[in-house]
Amino acid sequence: MPIYEYTCMDCRKSFTLLQRIGVGGAVCPWCNSANTAKQMSSFSCSPVGGAGAAGSGHTGGT
Ligand SMILES: [Zn+2]
Repeated sequence: MPIYEYTCMDCRKSFTLLQRIGVGGAVCPWCNSANTAKQMSSFSCSPVGGAGAAGSGHTGGT
């Protein structure tokens, strides 16, 4: 199941929820408010710490 991120409109807190696709509506776990908005947070595509150890490290010289 995908994890959805919600933001409560009442207390302004954000929380994540495991939900099935297509299921809408979430209750804030902090204030029990149903006034929440689903955040469309696509999976992070930012190349953080990319595998790019470019550059010759060791200079061959025995
Ligand atoms: Zn809330």
